[in-house]
Amino acid sequence: MQKTYTVGSRSFVLDQTKAEEAFKAKKIINGRETLTFNLLPLKYNWAYELYKTMKANHWEPEDIIMNKDIEQWKDDGQVSEVERWIIMMGVGYFSAAEGIVGDNILHVIRHLVTAPELKLVLGRHAHEENVHADSLLYMISSLGINPHECEAMFEDIETIVAKNEFVTRHSHALRRDIDLTITENKQKFAKNVFLFGQCMEGTQFYGMFGMILSLYRQNKFRGIGEMFRYTLRDESNHIELLRNLFMDLVEENSDIWTPEFQEDLRQTMAEGIALEKNFIEDCLPVDSIGLVKKDFLQYIDYIADRRLEGCGLKPLNPGITNPLPWLAEMMDIKKEQNFFEGRVTEYQKASSLENDDDDDL
Ligand code: FE
Ligand code: MN
Repeated sequence: MQKTYTVGSRSFVLDQTKAEEAFKAKKIINGRETLTFNLLPLKYNWAYELYKTMKANHWEPEDIIMNKDIEQWKDDGQVSEVERWIIMMGVGYFSAAEGIVGDNILHVIRHLVTAPELKLVLGRHAHEENVHADSLLYMISSLGINPHECEAMFEDIETIVAKNEFVTRHSHALRRDIDLTITENKQKFAKNVFLFGQCMEGTQFYGMFGMILSLYRQNKFRGIGEMFRYTLRDESNHIELLRNLFMDLVEENSDIWTPEFQEDLRQTMAEGIALEKNFIEDCLPVDSIGLVKKDFLQYIDYIADRRLEGCGLKPLNPGITNPLPWLAEMMDIKKEQNFFEGRVTEYQKASSLENDDDDDL
C-alpha cells in the first residue's frame, strides 16, 4: 500500500510497509546503522524543525561593524581596565570553548546517534560552532589582540583550564566504539549530552554572556555585544536540541534513569556552577558600573535550575529568583528589527521548505 508523507511543503509517496519498518528502526541510539542518510519517514520531527529554525538564523561576523569597538578599545576615557579585561576573558574562554563543543558534537554525539534527522541537525550545530569560532577571530583581528596571548589564556588562566577540563574529561572517554547496549555506557553518553547542552552551553556560557551584554547595554563594545547576541540566539537552539535529545534518549532507555544517575547529573551541574562562579570572580575582580558580581553569581544558580528542571531533575536552589531580568529581554532578538533581516529573508527565499507542517506518520 502507498501512503503520502509530508515534510513541510514537500510530499512523498512511500510504500507503507517499508516506511513503517524504517520508522521502527529509527532510534536515538542502537537504531539501524546506515550511511545513506534515509531521512524519510521522519521520526524526530523536532530535529528537522530545529534544523530549519537554525538555518533561518544564519549570520556572518563580517556583517557587524566594529569601528566604535576599536575606538573604545584604545581609549581609556571611554572604557575601564575591568571592562577591557572582561572582553579579553570572553574572547579567551570562547575561543577554546566553541571548538570543544563543535568537536564533541561531531566526534561523540553525532557519531553515536543513529537516526539521520538527528545527524542532520547536529551537523548544523557543529557548523554554528564554526561560525562562533570565526566571530572570535574577527574580534581578535578587529581589536588587534595578540592571538598568542589569547591562546595562552587556555593554559594560564586556571579558571578557564578548569572549565575546559570539566567537559573534555567526559568527551575523550567516549571516542571509541563503545557498546551502547550496556546501561552504564548509555549513562555515560546521556551524561555527555547533559553536560555539554545543559551545564556548558546552558549554564557556563551565561556568566560571560551576562557580563558582555551588560556592557552592551551601556553602549560599550556594541559590535562585540551584537555578535554575542547572535551567538546566544544560536546557543538557545543548541540547548534545546541537546535537551530534546536527552529527553528522548531517557524515554527510549528507561534503564538509565535511576535515582543514582539523576543525582549524579545534579552533582555534575553543581560542579559546573562552582567552576563558573570561580570564572566570574576572575572576570570581575571588583564590581564595576552596572556590573554587580553577586548578581552574576546568583544568575548562574538561577539559570542552572532552569536547565535541571528542563531535563526533569530537581533544582539545586528551589525558589531562587532571577537577579538580571533585563537579560531575558536582551536575549530575545526575534521580534527586533535587525540588520540581518533582509539577508535572512533572502536565505529563506532560496529555500523551498517554507511550511512548518509536521509529517504525519
Ligand atoms: Fe557556540
Ligand atoms: Mn553552541
